[in-house]
Amino acid sequence: MAPAQRCPLCRQTFFCGRGHVYSRKHQRQLKEALERLLPQVEAARKAIRAAQVERYVPEHERCCWCLCCGCEVREHLSHGNLTVLYGGLLEHLASPEHKKATNKFWWENKAEIQMKEKFLVTPQDYVRLCGSSVSFFKLLQISKNFFK
Ligand SMILES: [Zn+2]
Ligand SMILES: [Zn+2]
Repeated sequence: MAPAQRCPLCRQTFFCGRGHVYSRKHQRQLKEALERLLPQVEAARKAIRAAQVERYVPEHERCCWCLCCGCEVREHLSHGNLTVLYGGLLEHLASPEHKKATNKFWWENKAEIQMKEKFLVTPQDYVRLCGSSVSFFKLLQISKNFFK
């Protein structure tokens, strides 16, 4: 007999091995969980095009839960008293660990293949974000010195 497995999505223990991922309940839980994460991922994607840098506030410590990796991820990236919005999440989405975990997660849960691309960010995109935030940081530094 297959050993009992606890499914983190259905929050139930199953004795029938991995077969239950095909069940309607599991597929529904999976879809709901992905849809909960999607708005954050999409907001992060938008930030690639126009990096937003804000003055650091404790709220920027916020984390979101990466379903694929099963870990908490910092949403924003703080540097001194500045924060790049969604920098943390983008760094995570672009990491090879996340890509590997996402491929595994999609395979194990039989998730919709078209959805997968939405949860991945290419390292090139992340570099683009870094490029635009670096210029933001520089600009801020210059204006700070200017107004001293
Ligand atoms: Zn399940
Ligand atoms: Zn992840």
